[in-house]
Amino acid sequence: MKELYSELGISDKVIDYAESVLKKLSSRFNEIDKVTEYNQLKVLKAMQDCRVSEACLLGTTGYGYNDIGRDTLEEVFAHVFHTEAALVRPQITCGTHALALALMSNLRPGDELLSPVGKPYDTLEEVIGIRESKGSLAEYGISYKQVDLLENGDFDFDNIKKAISEKTKLVTIQRSKGYQTRKTLSVERIGELISFIKNIKPDIICMVDNCYGEFVETIEPSDVGADMIVGSLIKNPGGGLAPIGGYIAGKKECIENAAYRLTSPGLGKEVGASLGILKDLYQGFFLAPSVTSSALKGAIFAANLFEKCGFKVVPDSTESRHDIIQAITFGSPEGVIAFCEGIQAAAPIDSFVAPEPWDMPGYDAKVIMAAGAFVSGSSIELSADGPIKPPYAVYFQGGLTWEHAKFGIMKAFQAVFDKGLISEKDLC
Ligand SMILES: *Cc1c(COP(=O)(O)O)cnc(C)c1O
Repeated sequence: MKELYSELGISDKVIDYAESVLKKLSSRFNEIDKVTEYNQLKVLKAMQDCRVSEACLLGTTGYGYNDIGRDTLEEVFAHVFHTEAALVRPQITCGTHALALALMSNLRPGDELLSPVGKPYDTLEEVIGIRESKGSLAEYGISYKQVDLLENGDFDFDNIKKAISEKTKLVTIQRSKGYQTRKTLSVERIGELISFIKNIKPDIICMVDNCYGEFVETIEPSDVGADMIVGSLIKNPGGGLAPIGGYIAGKKECIENAAYRLTSPGLGKEVGASLGILKDLYQGFFLAPSVTSSALKGAIFAANLFEKCGFKVVPDSTESRHDIIQAITFGSPEGVIAFCEGIQAAAPIDSFVAPEPWDMPGYDAKVIMAAGAFVSGSSIELSADGPIKPPYAVYFQGGLTWEHAKFGIMKAFQAVFDKGLISEKDLC
């Protein structure tokens, strides 16, 4: 084993250190395995209950009328998430599109949208119109209010109550922290927030941005009162196999609204050919619990590996997990760059290229990204990125297999070590 690791560029010292860190993680990994087992059975049972057949794996072309595979897949999602209905389509191009669709189809001019958990994910700023943008909700006369979390991360219940008015039609709750410093919300906390809101105004639609959260716990936000949960198929629920797509699962009426907006009034879910990708969507969803578990183990392994060497990690080495994202603060550009070079060098695709910081549109500093993925841009595959500005933190996620996540993190650790940013005595 050591010989093969060494051929792949990992020194004996780093291997020994990694193994010593891993030894202490067995009980946490056991807990994750239990969640995975539960979620695997949940998905399997849904597939059996919905009578997924070989014919479902084929697809349709053209209008896509009577696409049994597409319709059954939507039933499977609804079963797993315990919702009345679901919309799962390759015509939903990404997570942002799924979220925009859920919002635009369920809000009407004069309505107000409320985020009670602070600023939403960057790309949603343009959807909502926080940053001016063509086609935003603001352009259609839909207003927006936001209540930030309290300093200590708690919900600001007083101000949430004050923010809810006659106009408040929909509340958006982001589960994952995204690129913010707040903590990711557990499903239980999301449930508390939804109860509080529904107590004030029962007919408010509660939507949860579930990106990066699927299958991390045994329950999902739809189990604690969310009317809609929304996510991307090139993250957790695609299991690394879905080549495109997004989903919305929730109340029948919400899903119908979304379907009529996605295609056309009068057509709704009846059209939309699945082309040839259904097998990958089914198989990806089937594998999603164990792929998510690999990513989660990788995140915890990395937190422990780097925290012991003095780097700040969020979540920290012992915290409970509610999404698959790990942040590591290096405090120097060299650390961020070395880490990303290591992740890239560990990839199955494009391992021979070196990532470089560049001026990405929409960002105020250079950003470096590492990804060598089978599906372009897929972030359930091992990937990392970091803005080149203080505090010089890198965000990473994914790993289709635990063994690859482990290797990628060791490779990144080795790269940081080789730059002299970790001292040898930290490895004892
Ligand atoms: C990734 C992500 C999105 C957007 O998904 P894309 O597929 O990148 O458009 C939205 N919200 C959160 C929390 C995300 O992590």
